[in-house]
Amino acid sequence: MTTLRIAGGRVLRPDATVERADVLVDSESGTITAVGDPDEVPEGDETLSAEDGLVMPGLVNAHTHAAMTLLRGYADDKELDAWLQEDIWPVEAELTPEDVRAGTDLGLLEMIRSGTTAFADMYFHEEQVVDAVEDAGLRARLGYGIVTVGKDEDGAREDCEQSLATARKFDGAAAGRVKTAFMPHSLTTVGEEYLREYVSKARDDGIPLHYHANETEDEVDPIVEAEGERPLEYARELDMTGASDSVAHGVHLDGTEIDLLAETGTAVVHCPASNMKLASGMAPVQDMLDAGVTVGLGTDGAASNNDLDLFDEMRDAAMVGKLAANDASAVPAESVVRMATEGSADALGFDSGRVAEGANADLAVVDLDAPHLTPHHDLVSHLVYAARGSDVRHTLCDGAVLMRDREVLTMDAEDVRERAEERAAAAVERAE
Ligand SMILES: [Zn+2]
Repeated sequence: MTTLRIAGGRVLRPDATVERADVLVDSESGTITAVGDPDEVPEGDETLSAEDGLVMPGLVNAHTHAAMTLLRGYADDKELDAWLQEDIWPVEAELTPEDVRAGTDLGLLEMIRSGTTAFADMYFHEEQVVDAVEDAGLRARLGYGIVTVGKDEDGAREDCEQSLATARKFDGAAAGRVKTAFMPHSLTTVGEEYLREYVSKARDDGIPLHYHANETEDEVDPIVEAEGERPLEYARELDMTGASDSVAHGVHLDGTEIDLLAETGTAVVHCPASNMKLASGMAPVQDMLDAGVTVGLGTDGAASNNDLDLFDEMRDAAMVGKLAANDASAVPAESVVRMATEGSADALGFDSGRVAEGANADLAVVDLDAPHLTPHHDLVSHLVYAARGSDVRHTLCDGAVLMRDREVLTMDAEDVRERAEERAAAAVERAE
């Protein structure tokens, strides 16, 4: 057994208290084996300094499209529909497997450098994402995103089959760090007949679901008109709501849908930056938390954010949550940290998001000696309102150190940046 002791720092515990403690990690099983008083935690084979730092759970980005980093800053300041149809989809149609690998690598580099240790990804050429995750050392739940609108019967079926095949093939890849899901893009971009047929196939294999839902009013109104019921009631009828499932956004929800989410155990992944940038609306996060819904946090793709820094996202979640509730006490810092760690991990079905014995050793160590993090009245407040991704000193996933003292050990940062720059420029040129 190889053990690593993270020593000399403070630790954020699952009950949101902070204490002076050391953490012992078993690198082989990838789990935390001890957390506690430095005098009582056994010596490790190796030591990682957390002096002047806070050991916290690695952040979990529960909804993104990692390769969209290639489109960062390519088209901004437009409505969702026009933005997708005029700018994003034409370039995405040009992306090769190598492009997706380059964009994903860039996304993973950014995640590791900002303390994110796990993520959910919906895209295409997912085999490239699997390889990227394997090499970078992160944890992920991946799936091929299905869109059937605008496709003929054969094309639509091919998409559905591809999503099922991806979910079946790659579950358990990268020594178990990769899990999969069946991923219809949304309730309005995939036809009902396909959802009916293929969701039941996914269920037969015990494959979870991840899809966009209730992001904009344009996604809600057509379903209400056609079905005479709310989108998530329609989803429940299609067997798309359950304890292993998660929906991204959940902005335009009514009380019935919030209750339905809580009853079925379906998690919501809140994406505040994307919702603000695309003027989609303000999700009723405090109402969801009050109802007992599992709420995670995601950045969505870098084209609508425009970064993958979950510290930024936590701040946005707290701010917009208060505006949405018209109450400064709504969506407090402690709730937001929980969303970005435990909530997201629960949404994705990972035993991560907690610094506790037996949990996955997915951790970030945040430097506390920066001017913008001084003084130390309340470190949970700092994580949400003052810290940045660049304050992360070390990142670990599955018991392995991915970044030590700001140096990413599993990726060649310069090569990643160069490849992304070249491939992004070439893809845009082909599309224009
Ligand atoms: Zn999305």
